[in-house]
Amino acid sequence: MSTMHCEEVVRLLWRYMDRELQEHIRECRHCEPRHEFEARLRAIIRQKCAGRPAPETLRRRVLALLQEL
Ligand SMILES: [Zn+2]
Repeated sequence: MSTMHCEEVVRLLWRYMDRELQEHIRECRHCEPRHEFEARLRAIIRQKCAGRPAPETLRRRVLALLQEL
């Protein structure tokens, strides 16, 4: 096994997938409108939740969901 930590791998994986997704979305007219919606949603969340840490229960729930992917 490599000396790489699991967290590091996951982080790189997310970054990689994110880039792949961005590229696809840029070129795909099916995904473009959905991306628009998501971008707006993100902006709203960022605005409303700025500076406030997520509650521990929410944090744990999101992490659990991510592990099911
Ligand atoms: Zn697409």
